[in-house]
Amino acid sequence: MAIDWTTDRIKTLMALWAEGISTLEIGRRLGVTKNSIVGKVHRLGLPKRQSPINSSPRTPRVTKPTAPIRTRPQTVPISANMVKMEKLTLGMCKWPEGEPGHEDFRFCGQPAIEGKPYCAGHCARAYVKSTRDRGQKPQIATRISSRVA
Ligand SMILES: [Zn+2]
Repeated sequence: MAIDWTTDRIKTLMALWAEGISTLEIGRRLGVTKNSIVGKVHRLGLPKRQSPINSSPRTPRVTKPTAPIRTRPQTVPISANMVKMEKLTLGMCKWPEGEPGHEDFRFCGQPAIEGKPYCAGHCARAYVKSTRDRGQKPQIATRISSRVA
């Protein structure tokens, strides 16, 4: 059965071909066989397309490089308004900054954690070492503290 390739049909074929529609689908839409489409495409000299099945593993998926998740470094919030020795009151962070006896020697002064001499940030600083050492040399620590007391 000869196919009547009207101008309209050819136009449709070319449009569908350009869209990447499969020859089978084009044939179904134009009411012709797949082979007729393949033959016509060849005769029209349309640019070759890779069949979707063959091309899919060959085309690497362009994936956006994922930015590394940046973890914020834990910063100890240090009060901008540090307090001097005489201004230091109960419940204020007693974390010293600067040289003792020096003009700019000050204390953190932020609200201290209940039962602790320092604010949250300075507690983290102050107790990192002691928690790490805890259990390793408890006797020495006790001995020193008792001697001081
Ligand atoms: Zn503090």
